[in-house]
Amino acid sequence: MDGGNLIYLVWNDFVGLSRTRGMVRENYEFNKARGLGWALAGQSLTPFEDIAPNPWGPMDEVRQTPDPDTEVNIKITDGAPALSMVLCDSRHPDGTPWECCTRSLLKAALDELERAHGLILKIAYENEFKLYAPDGAWNAPFSLAAARSYAPFIEVLTQALLTAQVGLETVEPEYGVGQYEISCGPAPGVAGADRVVITREVLREAARQCGLHASLSPKTGPDDVGNGCHLHLSLWHRDGTPASFDPEGPGELSPVAAHFVAGVHRHLQALMAFTAPSPVSYLRLGPHHWSCGYDAVGVQNREAAIRICPAPAGEAAQRAAGLNIEYRATDATASPYLSLAAILRAGLHGLREKLPLPALLDQDPADLSDGEREKRGIRSLPGSLETALSALDDDPLVKQWFSPTMLQAYKDLKTYEAGMFKDASPDHLCERYRLAY
Ligand code: GLU
Ligand code: MG
Repeated sequence: MDGGNLIYLVWNDFVGLSRTRGMVRENYEFNKARGLGWALAGQSLTPFEDIAPNPWGPMDEVRQTPDPDTEVNIKITDGAPALSMVLCDSRHPDGTPWECCTRSLLKAALDELERAHGLILKIAYENEFKLYAPDGAWNAPFSLAAARSYAPFIEVLTQALLTAQVGLETVEPEYGVGQYEISCGPAPGVAGADRVVITREVLREAARQCGLHASLSPKTGPDDVGNGCHLHLSLWHRDGTPASFDPEGPGELSPVAAHFVAGVHRHLQALMAFTAPSPVSYLRLGPHHWSCGYDAVGVQNREAAIRICPAPAGEAAQRAAGLNIEYRATDATASPYLSLAAILRAGLHGLREKLPLPALLDQDPADLSDGEREKRGIRSLPGSLETALSALDDDPLVKQWFSPTMLQAYKDLKTYEAGMFKDASPDHLCERYRLAY
């Protein structure tokens, strides 16, 4: 299909935004192996007009190099140019990955999982978002009226996501006014993370072309229902058989899945610096909102940071294939690649050390007394980005997963971003992120 004259080379940076350069299409075939140059300092851009202090000079650059498997070329509405884009790895001119390339960090962690344990990770995302329309209709939560109020847009979006082949499963109204959700099925390895980046950009583009605005920000207004981006993970053997399920295991988790979860749980406080990485992330998280406020683990527990999701009843084979682990403490201000790389490294630590699964919780952790929570080893999640960054500083193992330059640049950027909103009102904070994400 004709995608117009430009193809956008896209990379997802430390703040989880898709940055881009547009290449003239007729040069693309010839130039795609070399990619386009991009200043390293660009990795320290905040989501706004500012750039954080960083170690890079005016001559340092990287090549944004397309992965042809990720090309998207979709006509969304008549009369608007097709969305034509390709996802990139950030490489040095000799082709080696840059230490700060989020996509390459995930690929390295996935390689380690396969090399050391013979396992493949399948990844699926839910994307909650809020739709803004000039006429801003009110509808009851989850109602057919909410679905049908924007039926033309939802049909355009659905068709676009089907064409983009992101494994679309559902598009539905959510709890908040104007809130909707897109769920996609799992894909193995880096393709699972690519899917979520493509899904979000197709969503934003479809909304733009229909005269609407879609925001995936975790909190679009202080009193709005939060937008989560729940992440579903499952482990598979190389031969394509599921590896997460054992009907005899706690929560029906296999030993490898239990160790994986234990590793993620062990490092959860520090992981939050990557998975809930914005000041506004912490307006969403908290007890009694199903967004989670504690680092509990439980079967079907929507108030736990890690929810074990059994498959619906069925044959053992279906239950084995359907069981997955949901990480709820994340949102669309996180880079899917970087946050998954960190989560996967934590899971690898659990696998290597055969860490024990924490006791599973079958109630709302907020209903327990402080003493009961302490007895069960349940901790509050960090209450701010600054606290999450301190937790990262306090976790020597997590810091080892990244190069010193990468870690310093990331922490400096996130510290700067936290500082930008230190004295901001919740209204101002929500409004800035609502427009950026
Ligand atoms: N909106 C909730 C959140 O912020 C999630 C609701 C749900 O379980 O779908 O995570
Ligand atoms: Mg939801």
